[in-house]
Amino acid sequence: LEWDNILRKKYGIHVSGSHVPSPLQSFDELKTRYKCKSYLLRNFAELGYVEPTPIQRQAIPVLLSGREVFACAPTGSGKTLAFVCPILMKLKHGLKNAIRAVVLCPTRELAAQTTRECKKLAEGKKFYIKLMTKELARSADFSKLRCDILVSTPLRLEFAILKRKLDLSRVEFLVLDESDKLFELGFVEQIDFVVKACSNPSVVRSLFSATLPDTVEDLARTLMHDAVRIIVGRKNT
Ligand code: ADP
Ligand code: MG
Repeated sequence: LEWDNILRKKYGIHVSGSHVPSPLQSFDELKTRYKCKSYLLRNFAELGYVEPTPIQRQAIPVLLSGREVFACAPTGSGKTLAFVCPILMKLKHGLKNAIRAVVLCPTRELAAQTTRECKKLAEGKKFYIKLMTKELARSADFSKLRCDILVSTPLRLEFAILKRKLDLSRVEFLVLDESDKLFELGFVEQIDFVVKACSNPSVVRSLFSATLPDTVEDLARTLMHDAVRIIVGRKNT
């Protein structure tokens, strides 16, 4: 435990919460500690990711342990992989015909970018990763759609749930990405709606942000009860 804190200090990781799992020393530890499949480590290597970034070191083990996460780390610090990696490791594909992970992004560009990153990381495995495009929101038969991970902006997701009977009741992971921006853009109601739609009592919620305004802190408090709070670097940079 002392060693955990030495590592955290070294990487500028600040945590609060009870029983916080040890940070990763390397990507290889995903294999030794969590029996991560080789394809994922191969994909990391292929993408030139040699070492986990600080937020990845701490957020991945926390999400793998099934705990909720409230994470703040600067833009460009690798938050996408921090939530995609545990989702890929935890979702056993081929089990259910249901959407099992939802990533909410503030803008179409960010949603498209997150989808691309997600697909790169899942390369070689039969995961169905879908971006909620305008066409999909309007015309998909969601009862038949094969989709493990759905990435969307708030308005399109709300539309699909309300008007197109998109069922999120079996979602196991809900990620609110760039939640500071989600707020700035005024998506509070949609966030609330999506959170309610992901009605599975064992859904693991996580909140990622580049800054920590009070609005985000408040949201974290209302949405999560035993979350591990992870902050990399200083609060408002
Ligand atoms: P954030 O969401 O924190 O702004 P991103 O997840 O978009 O950051 O990642 C920023 C960039 O860093 C991306 O180009 C991504 O491919 C790259 N990246 C992610 N993880 C690593 C890593 N462990 N090593 C090197 N580069 C990484
Ligand atoms: Mg991001």
